[in-house]
Amino acid sequence: MRIGIIGAGQLGQMLGYAAHDLGHECFFLDPANKPPAASVGPVIQAAFDDRVALAILAEKCDVLTYEFENVPVAALADIADLVPIYPPPEALHHAQDRLAEKRLFQNLGIPLPEFRAIDSSKDLHEAVGSLGLPLVIKTRRLGYDGKGQFVMRAAEQFDAAWQALGNRELIAEQWVEFDYEVSAIGVRNAKGEIANYCLTRNEHADGILRISRAPAEDTALTELATVHMRNLLEHLNYVGVLALELFVVGPSLLANEFAPRVHNSGHWSIEGATTSQFSNHILAISGEAPRPTDNLGHAGMLNLIGEIPDAARKLTACSLHDYGKTPRPGRKLGHITVIADSASARDRKISQINEIVTKSYTQ
Ligand code: AMP
Repeated sequence: MRIGIIGAGQLGQMLGYAAHDLGHECFFLDPANKPPAASVGPVIQAAFDDRVALAILAEKCDVLTYEFENVPVAALADIADLVPIYPPPEALHHAQDRLAEKRLFQNLGIPLPEFRAIDSSKDLHEAVGSLGLPLVIKTRRLGYDGKGQFVMRAAEQFDAAWQALGNRELIAEQWVEFDYEVSAIGVRNAKGEIANYCLTRNEHADGILRISRAPAEDTALTELATVHMRNLLEHLNYVGVLALELFVVGPSLLANEFAPRVHNSGHWSIEGATTSQFSNHILAISGEAPRPTDNLGHAGMLNLIGEIPDAARKLTACSLHDYGKTPRPGRKLGHITVIADSASARDRKISQINEIVTKSYTQ
């Protein structure tokens, strides 16, 4: 099959490797010069809303997919008659707007933090009154990795919050004192066949994912997440991989957001699962059944952010993925995966690697 991938970053690159292994050819569209996926297949260099370039990609390919969620839905609608687009743009629509996303969770009975839509400073005053402090103010659109967010902890910060974000559509959300964060990753094909990866436990710093550990061993939470995942996948008539990020609070899960694509917290699955999230996404969008998602041990994944230190390249007994990107502060340049026989051995390895990498950063 000829697969078109909108976006040629590291997710596109890893999707491309998986597609090649499954015997497919890949074509990409991305505005960047020499993006990571250029190592896998030809890239049409164009803006994500370039109707002509999208149509050229659509004409070339049997199916289109995307690797990030800010592809304009209207631009996809224009080419929807030319080629199947998976995941369905309806999912993209919800993921692009935090308010639509939260209302979808509500409609599906998926618990989530209390929130308010904020269109004026009066709305924000009322939200502070009804939700209390701290609260998180988030832009409805185009936020990622914690960008476009303001944590308001004291009433005196009202003006600062409004100054930082007040010129955009917003939501205000109750601050959750979570125990930890997890993500559920599921996959569905057009026949409705579903597979789920184990729950992954995630650590963020400054809004960016740093470390993932899989499996997050809590059977009751895993079962709960699987029900929420099925609800979402079936409601959206979803095809492909979907990631649902959740806060764990005692025995409960609160949904934070979902991504209609392969996800950073599922990178461990390349070495750590029978079938990676990338292979399963390609299988689903090309009409095949999902393959087994069983763990091959206890997996850990550390993101390499801002630079890939030499010390990280010298590590043994782990897998380093270098996306080939130019270093820049805060940029995800690669990741390291470790697999161990037990959770404690995995955690020891993660601590060792984290220490080596962090020490190199600060030198
Ligand atoms: P988001 O862009 O919504 O995924 O937020 C990035 C990170 O900020 C999350 O992974 C959490 O660590 C933190 N965060 C977001 N919303 C909340 C909240 N309502 N309460 C506590 N922490 C939050």
